[in-house]
Amino acid sequence: MKYQNKMLINGLFVNGEGNEENILNPVNAEILVQIKEAALNQVRLAVDSAEDAFNSWGKTTPAERSELLLKLADKIDQNSETLARLESLNCGKPFQAALEDELPAIVDTFRFFAGAARCMTGSAANEYLPNFTSMIRRDPIGVVGSITPWNYPLMMAAWKIAPAIAAGNTVVLKPSEMTPLSTLKAAEYFAEIFPPGVINIIVGRGNTVGAALASHPKVRLISLTGDISTGKKVLQAASDNLKKTHLELGGKAPVIVFDDADLKEVIENVRTFGYYNAGQDCTAPCRIYASSKIYENLVADLSSAVSNIKSGGQDEKGVEMGPLISERQQERVAGFVKRAAELNHIEITTGGQIDKGTGFFFQPTVIAGALQEDEITQKEVFGPVVSVTRFTDPEQAIDWANDSEYGLASSVWSKDIAKAMKVSARLQYGCTWINTHFMLTTEMPHGGLKASGYGKDMSVYALEDYTVIRHVMINLQ
Ligand code: NAD
Repeated sequence: MKYQNKMLINGLFVNGEGNEENILNPVNAEILVQIKEAALNQVRLAVDSAEDAFNSWGKTTPAERSELLLKLADKIDQNSETLARLESLNCGKPFQAALEDELPAIVDTFRFFAGAARCMTGSAANEYLPNFTSMIRRDPIGVVGSITPWNYPLMMAAWKIAPAIAAGNTVVLKPSEMTPLSTLKAAEYFAEIFPPGVINIIVGRGNTVGAALASHPKVRLISLTGDISTGKKVLQAASDNLKKTHLELGGKAPVIVFDDADLKEVIENVRTFGYYNAGQDCTAPCRIYASSKIYENLVADLSSAVSNIKSGGQDEKGVEMGPLISERQQERVAGFVKRAAELNHIEITTGGQIDKGTGFFFQPTVIAGALQEDEITQKEVFGPVVSVTRFTDPEQAIDWANDSEYGLASSVWSKDIAKAMKVSARLQYGCTWINTHFMLTTEMPHGGLKASGYGKDMSVYALEDYTVIRHVMINLQ
């Protein structure tokens, strides 16, 4: 397969002039292609070109921007197979999952923001002082720097590019150094549809290219999806010139299961979504609090359901789960599980080991008997590992769910909807699902509280995040 390995700067495809990175297939650790990262002067060129392009792109009408976003959506739709193939090769995901789950969501993101660009709302213009008319404008910010992670590379790029462009900004985006292939391919479509400089794609590592983008004085907003520690670095870099920040930083989603929940549905959901994308998902249902009445049944049934999840390569028949992204991630996940297994109160009821053979596989794992203070309950593993903790008092379950540095996603399971509603109101999470978990829709915001960051992806709230509010006052006398 031939890979598009050039960056897009000012409408031109150019090779990086920095260090070379090996881009791997995580299923077998083979090198797919080598790509040179951007040299620092190329980061500056990309930002300069975005700044130049902003002079005209920032003045386009919402209808003009909408039309190009719709064209892009169609183009991605027509090339879904190619993009899904690249995503699945580079991330190790089952091909069908990339094709059927991710690509439609990516296309929908561009279509949604094409519509939203034309429907922004705000306060009414009025004479708040006699003889002075005040009005609110929502204007684009300027050059937006975007930095994406490796778990859903093209979807994260869509979540960042679509609202930024819809609002009239220009973008310089850096995908993860491990997974640039789908974004680089999509750069061909960006170049075909948008004027030069409106969307620029540069590649490279975080502490070189990412840091240069985050600290560049002409970048007016920096948007990151990544780890908490990366979020802190980006904030520091942004503080030098007080740029706006938009941070989506991981999660450790609690799943509160009351004794009147439909256990079959809980198990089906956690078996699917706790292990989807090999658990490398910031909203994955990975921290179960089970009422003591149903605890034993839940652990037994979940463990047996999880034990037959089929891991394998991108195109293996019936494959449900791929490998982790890298050897480093595999070792990290194994470390969490090993430290948990050393505790007397913990039982690994299924999985628990690195899968022998090629690539970076880890067995789908259930950890029973976890206590609130355990590392496995507190820290984001970002792997196919779900812990189960027993509770006796519902108040305790709510307190434990909130006792976390993270605040991205959560769920409550009970047939008593009034009870579930009351509990959901008390959870400190950007999203709470009731009797489901993991369902996203482009119309609704995705984003965290606490150390999970701030700023929303998807929905009209994301569009607002990529604008500045301005007050214009007219003297009528
Ligand atoms: P990461 O923080 O290591 O990397 C994310 C991106 O940041 C990469 O492009 C990387 O090159 C870049 N980066 C790293 N150091 C940087 C620096 N000093 N300056 C600027 N950029 C830098 O995260 P990852 O390992 O790629 O992704 C996994 C993390 O992302 C997990 O913690 C996960 O929960 C989080 N995540 C969050 C969401 C969300 O919506 N909240 C979604 C997906 C992933």
